[in-house]
Amino acid sequence: MECDVAVLGGGPGGYTAAIRAAQLGAKVVCIEKEPELGGTCLRVGCIPTKAWVQTAFALKEAEESFAKLGVKVGPAELDFAAANAWKAAVVKQMTGGVASLFKANGVEWVKGAGRFRDARTIAVEGAEDVVFASAVVATGSYPLRPPVPGIDSERCVDSTGLLAQSDVPRRLVVLGGGIIGCEFASIFRRFGSDVTIVEMLPTLIPQEDEDAAKELLKQFTRRGIAVHLSSQCSLVEETSGGLRVHFGEGQVAECDLMLVATGRGPLVEGIGLEEAGVEFDRRTGIGADERRRTSVPHIYAVGDCAGYWQLAHTAFREGEVAAENAMGHDAVIGDPAVPRPIYTDPEIAGVGLTEREARELYGDDVSVGVFPWVANARAVMQNETVGWVKSIHESRYGELLGLVMVGPHVTDLVEAGVVALDAESTVETVADGIAAHPTLSEAIKEAGLVALGRAIHLPPKRRAAAGA
Ligand SMILES: Cc1cc2nc3c(=O)[nH]c(=O)nc-3n(C[C@H](O)[C@H](O)[C@H](O)COP(=O)(O)OP(=O)(O)OC[C@H]3O[C@@H](n4cnc5c(N)ncnc54)[C@H](O)[C@@H]3O)c2cc1C
Repeated sequence: MECDVAVLGGGPGGYTAAIRAAQLGAKVVCIEKEPELGGTCLRVGCIPTKAWVQTAFALKEAEESFAKLGVKVGPAELDFAAANAWKAAVVKQMTGGVASLFKANGVEWVKGAGRFRDARTIAVEGAEDVVFASAVVATGSYPLRPPVPGIDSERCVDSTGLLAQSDVPRRLVVLGGGIIGCEFASIFRRFGSDVTIVEMLPTLIPQEDEDAAKELLKQFTRRGIAVHLSSQCSLVEETSGGLRVHFGEGQVAECDLMLVATGRGPLVEGIGLEEAGVEFDRRTGIGADERRRTSVPHIYAVGDCAGYWQLAHTAFREGEVAAENAMGHDAVIGDPAVPRPIYTDPEIAGVGLTEREARELYGDDVSVGVFPWVANARAVMQNETVGWVKSIHESRYGELLGLVMVGPHVTDLVEAGVVALDAESTVETVADGIAAHPTLSEAIKEAGLVALGRAIHLPPKRRAAAGA
């Protein structure tokens, strides 16, 4: 079978590249080995976890807000089977949506595992060879397992294994306090599990703004999640009813299930990159330039297999860029603002520089303003006043450098910061603009006003103390 563009992998990077190339008139073949399209994100990543996040959020509302807001219902109770049915229905709708988009755009889905035979051919298990003019590699990533004795127990699961559970574990240990570990810890605490996080580094979500990580630790501790930082897991033992997890200086946690969430590696082996002449590194993935070209100029690489971010939304954009270049256009990734959403309770979202990064780059020429949700009317009426919005700008020209938020719906709100940063806005653009009232989005403007020293909705004393 011959085509203009062959795409290996049907996740966010691959399916976007396939659809964009088809829009530009290419005959496109996408090779995907799983029975559904959508990749990690739609099948076992972003979508099913956030379906559970919605269940956890509904429980929280019922437990903490309904009565306060004047809504009488019986005691809130998790129906895990129904939550799983809901999760499966959402996944089915989203993966089916990609299949429909393929049909509508004339993208051919070849089902099976593909492997480059050479720089012009992909062999597909159980199907014809695909001969291409250009190819996009989008094979994604796989969960890493640290070399801890006993970690190969069936009770030590990765995120896919945890998503497949039909019972809520009474006691869950989460190994790894990164984004995926913290999201699951947050969900299962709300589902009623006793949750213990064991993290090797001295902070949760180590790549995020330090104040956001501290706020998360504070709120997790309040919610009864046991967090052990600077603690390495040394041994996992099976007991009659579960696991005994050893970590730190002789500490032990008993659990029914352990989530291993210690990072993901690029999927670059066993797909024939050597035969195609594409250079790669087992740890960092396939090397690609800002046009997503690999060392073989007509072969592109996008998403987790070639990525730094390991995010679905960066994979989407890389897929578009690769497809456009494969079709003779000249598209570059450039240096876009990349939102960093974290779907814990409380939610966290950042974009641009963290405060530490800004201070490292701009020294004393950095101004920061923090606006707490407790001073925002919409947050108060939603009974969601935990957290704050932090605005970071450089003080010589006023350019906005970053926005970090902890609190209600911030993963949706962060887009305002993405647009502002991509437009190279000043803090005044944000602070002197008009935000709809009463909305959560007002807090972004207000944080800018705090940074400029002219907050209206905070008393003078609180302006300095906000976020402390
Ligand atoms: C639990 C979890 C939660 C997440 N939550 C978020 C989130 O909220 N937001 C976010 O932005 N990101 C999230 N991510 C990350 C996100 O899922 C990935 O960044 C994204 O899926 C990467 O897209 P991709 O196209 O590069 O790879 P994938 O989505 O992994 O897709 C790769 C596809 O290639 C296929 N494939 C691989 N090898 C072959 C082969 N030889 N032949 C044929 N097909 C092959 C695979 O089956 C797969 O379908 C989450 C990840 C996990 C694990």
